[in-house]
Amino acid sequence: MPELPEVEVVRRGLESWVGGRTVAEVEVLHPRAIRRHLAGAVDFADRLRGARIGTPLRRGKYLWLPLAGTGDGLCVLAHLGMSGQLLVQPHDAPDEKHLRVRVRFADETGTELRFIDQRTFGGLSLHELTPDGLPDVIAHIARDPLDPAFDEEAFHAALRRRRSTVKRALLDQSLISGVGNIYADEALWRSRLHYDRPTATLTRPRTTELLGHIRDVMNAALAVGGTSFDSLYVNVNGESGYFDRSLDAYGREGLPCRRCATPLRRRPWMNRSSYFCPRCQRPPRPARSGV
Ligand SMILES: [Zn+2]
Repeated sequence: MPELPEVEVVRRGLESWVGGRTVAEVEVLHPRAIRRHLAGAVDFADRLRGARIGTPLRRGKYLWLPLAGTGDGLCVLAHLGMSGQLLVQPHDAPDEKHLRVRVRFADETGTELRFIDQRTFGGLSLHELTPDGLPDVIAHIARDPLDPAFDEEAFHAALRRRRSTVKRALLDQSLISGVGNIYADEALWRSRLHYDRPTATLTRPRTTELLGHIRDVMNAALAVGGTSFDSLYVNVNGESGYFDRSLDAYGREGLPCRRCATPLRRRPWMNRSSYFCPRCQRPPRPARSGV
């Protein structure tokens, strides 16, 4: 599953290679890839034809291409799912095995945009933009911590109000978007916070510190991923060189904590796992029941 930095790398690649181009033709090779567009493949292609692609935008893990020239404030939202990829390829590059949608442009650049998805959990869909410029279906998604307009004070206040635990809150897309399981575990380890720490106990400086660590891990991943989008290849496959080299907590069960050498632990958590250092990230004291 691609996380925010991978999606941002794709967004930048699309901005370089696809922004400003006018759609000439859309070919849907597998109807499942546009199943969210209920009017079907022909309608999807008709509505894109002649549209000019604006600057690709992102919020959290959501990526969309605003369309100009369609008359009614539309955008194409890309759902990358588990295995979705957006590639910019020369026309004569052989079709990928799992090519689902091809977009040709009305220019002589010699490249086209391809949506490839092995497992077809992802897809493309057309949406109207809200007055805030968001696709209507993601209007409820909060800003992500890399967004300059992210409101730290409001986030802290929401955390304090919420009767929740810190990792749950970090993965709640209506509070803060784009923080997945891996980045949450990494940022909590850096902050020395246990994932079950009640949000109501976080002080303002702790929230600031946590947000700083979230931004740091994301920016570090971006810096690594950022080396690949310079070429004619916009790619997301849910994996990043960053994850192999730089993780401090996630996936390191039994390995020594890089701070204190205590073996890290893994606990089942909401159908996933949480990795943490039992010494650096002390569990909260259990709430007293009765007596
Ligand atoms: Zn430790």
